[in-house]
Amino acid sequence: MVRKVSDGMSEFFGWFPPTTFANNTCIFVPNFANTCVFDTKDGLVVFDVPIRQFGQKTFDEVRRITNKPVKYIIYSHGHFDHAFGYGPFIEEIKKKGWDMPEVIAHENCIKRFEKYRTLDLYHDWINKQQFASVRVKEQGLLVSAHETLDPTIILRGNEDSYSFKLGKVNFEIYHDKGETDDSIWLWVPEKKTICTGDLILSSFPNIGNPYKVQRYPKDWAIAMERIRDKNAEYLVPGHGKLIEGKEKVKDVLSITAEAMHFVNDEVVKRLNEGKWFEQIYYEMLEIFPEKFKKHNALIPIYGCYRFAIHATYRLYHGWYNSGNPTDLFPAKTDDIAREFLKLNSEEKYLEHAKKLYSEGKRQLALHVLDIVVKGTDEKNVETLVEALKLKVKILKEKVKNEPSFIAGNIINNAAYQIKERLKELKKKLN
Ligand SMILES: [Zn+2]
Repeated sequence: MVRKVSDGMSEFFGWFPPTTFANNTCIFVPNFANTCVFDTKDGLVVFDVPIRQFGQKTFDEVRRITNKPVKYIIYSHGHFDHAFGYGPFIEEIKKKGWDMPEVIAHENCIKRFEKYRTLDLYHDWINKQQFASVRVKEQGLLVSAHETLDPTIILRGNEDSYSFKLGKVNFEIYHDKGETDDSIWLWVPEKKTICTGDLILSSFPNIGNPYKVQRYPKDWAIAMERIRDKNAEYLVPGHGKLIEGKEKVKDVLSITAEAMHFVNDEVVKRLNEGKWFEQIYYEMLEIFPEKFKKHNALIPIYGCYRFAIHATYRLYHGWYNSGNPTDLFPAKTDDIAREFLKLNSEEKYLEHAKKLYSEGKRQLALHVLDIVVKGTDEKNVETLVEALKLKVKILKEKVKNEPSFIAGNIINNAAYQIKERLKELKKKLN
């Protein structure tokens, strides 16, 4: 049965109870992102710690099951929801006088932390938009990398891997690029368990996120195949429920690999045919295979296929993407709109936008509305207010039909900002 988007989203956010598996030796704790704790006779190995705000909750849930000391913490990658909720674990270690744990990450994770510090306000700004619908109203930075628990064991380059043994259990760590350039994944043969971090996240892969840096479709596909070769019984994804059973694990990895190969290879083919972005994008939408649309592991609740086309194009192409030299050094959009308004009145454009809307052509209606929104000066407040109201209405309708949480939040956040502007404009009208 195909998962519903709403069910998928609550799974993605980890709104379900913790569980244990492999004879209660592995503890699976979902709190937005997932933490997996391996309980060996000589101590604990923790794969991923949650976002800082959920650190205590995850800690308490682990401590309900085992009180052994934490010996290793592994970061699947350095995103805020996988490497920052270490606080309560470290406090406990200091209080009890235990040895500090080894912390394992890829070298690019350290560069990532540095980048977050340099761009802290910018990242806060984009995260507040990406997570607009769930963020707790709080002062200051939503997340911050000014305090980190830095790695003590660092995987370097593209080929590096690292293994260790604790309490007679072997832990094998590998690096592959995918959602990030610092991804690592863990294979624990004795437990037949794979931890993937966000290489698997119970959604269409998060590739091509509109606000975020480059991601890697081909490497992602290769990572899926390397992980699949381990023939695991359990797969702990970065988000969403534990995947159990060899066949199911294999199926999720195979379809994700296939989808990533598909996006990459089809965009590459079209680049070789000398096509520009618009043509590639619309052709790609036409050929998206049914088997991907229908597969539970690829529902577009967070990442989505449309984003992935952008990501792949951007991986190989510069910013000049239309093939139209008008776009090389374009005029300001406000100035362009003003010129259009010299040809025809705001009222005419608004009327036409309404007509398009009534015909169900929402996207085209938005383009026409933008001529009024951008070109009209605030002397014509009444028309502007009407245009903005219609824009909000269309955006809200688009959100309702938008499966991707990220796309939905971007649109919703813009609608909210227009509403704030409308409040100001209405004061002028009164
Ligand atoms: Zn994540």
